[in-house]
Amino acid sequence: MRKYQFWFATGSQDLYGDECLAHVAEHSKIMVEHLNKSGLLPYEVVWKPTLITNELIRKTFNEANADEACAGVITWMHTFSPAKSWILGLQEYRKPLLHLHTQFNEEIPYDTIDMDFMNENQSAHGDREYGHIVSRMGIERKVIVGHWADAKVIGRIASWMRTAVGIMESSHIRVVRVADNMRNVAVTEGDKVEAQIKFGWEIDAYPVNEIADYVKDVSKGEIDALVEEYYDSYEILLEGRDPEEFKKHVAVQAGIEIGFERFLKEKDYHAIVTHFGDLGALQQLPGLAIQRLMEKGYGFGAEGDWKTAAMVRLMKLMTEGMKDAKGTSFMEDYTYNLVPGKEGILQAHMLEVCPTIAEGKIGIKVNPLSMGDREDPARLVFTSKTGPAVATSLIDLGNRFRLIVNTVDCKKVEKPMPKLPVATAFWTPQPNLATGAESWILAGGAHHTAFSYDLTAEQMGDWGAAMGIEVVYIDKDTTIRSLKNELLWNSVAFR
Ligand code: MN
Repeated sequence: MRKYQFWFATGSQDLYGDECLAHVAEHSKIMVEHLNKSGLLPYEVVWKPTLITNELIRKTFNEANADEACAGVITWMHTFSPAKSWILGLQEYRKPLLHLHTQFNEEIPYDTIDMDFMNENQSAHGDREYGHIVSRMGIERKVIVGHWADAKVIGRIASWMRTAVGIMESSHIRVVRVADNMRNVAVTEGDKVEAQIKFGWEIDAYPVNEIADYVKDVSKGEIDALVEEYYDSYEILLEGRDPEEFKKHVAVQAGIEIGFERFLKEKDYHAIVTHFGDLGALQQLPGLAIQRLMEKGYGFGAEGDWKTAAMVRLMKLMTEGMKDAKGTSFMEDYTYNLVPGKEGILQAHMLEVCPTIAEGKIGIKVNPLSMGDREDPARLVFTSKTGPAVATSLIDLGNRFRLIVNTVDCKKVEKPMPKLPVATAFWTPQPNLATGAESWILAGGAHHTAFSYDLTAEQMGDWGAAMGIEVVYIDKDTTIRSLKNELLWNSVAFR
């Protein structure tokens, strides 16, 4: 990850004299210093001189474009700043934009307020003029309202910064397909050229045996060392299998992990898809190996699902370095619990669930795979954390992409599932299982999702809006009637 920064640009004009402008600069410096010292922001804010002329505004935005460390500009109009001055700069600006609608003083100074104070502190006035031109120009931006020292406001800035990094990083995502999409499956397909135009993703295919050669070339010494690491880190759940035979199966995954990672690093890919029906010279479907690669930050999609692979990578980047992160993974809707009052969806995959979402012990099991024709793969098994999370599905509708964002509540399953040889999560979609699942199906959502405890629907929706695609939220406010209208209206809006 780059060490990103965000520029803080304060707008004003010279109508109220130098003394006023000196105050404006002083105030914005105090604000930037406070933001940086708050400890609440994942990235640094950089103060920029007050913007009062067309030339300086244009120059500053173009410098922001050119500066590789800059992931966005935070704008705020301290006084009145005639918005025509911003047109050329905004027109040429290409990075995330935040409009922080704030004010230096929190409270009206009732006893001392006079017209000089009003002229100097008129964000309520100046920010409306500025907001007007951004809206008129149709520029996607975030607006955050409130006092700059309020922890809630700073928290929203922090959250937006992660969205902005997602917008910046999206165009660096490179996905490798080591097999094509699973035959006859519709929802994992899509227009890769359009994905590169919209999101910046590079999605390339390689013959599976080209990556299998990397696995074949891994030395026994390297494999033995990694197997030892596995045996130190995870619980070995033999379940009656011969320990030596078990270890041989685990060793195959160690070889795959090392070989795949070498391939990804050498060719600079950050996400990968596999397909159980097209494994070439690979001895097992990559299971444990893929789980470990996801844990290291790689994106993954099964059965050739490159859209979900890129989304998992993107969401891992957006949560990079987050304190107390609970995890982000590829996921699949499997089985319902339809008992009244206990409704939910059991989430898992054949093998590939990221251990970042695990709660408690992680074990290794070796079990047959009912699909494909390879030997029994080793996989990590665990259950997952509880709490709110987002499940997202990016689908291609033929004429556009739609991002579906469902807020879900993750729970513990009632009882252990000792015979289930895969990692799982269990959640109830908002607003409830019946409406949530009905909405998901009406919106055309996939059975695969990119899932995270550490991102919000707002962050994912803002990312989608910045990409210029349709975003559909399913959450506590969703009703079928309003959702159906929204889908109908969107079909016209995105025609
Ligand atoms: Mn699947």
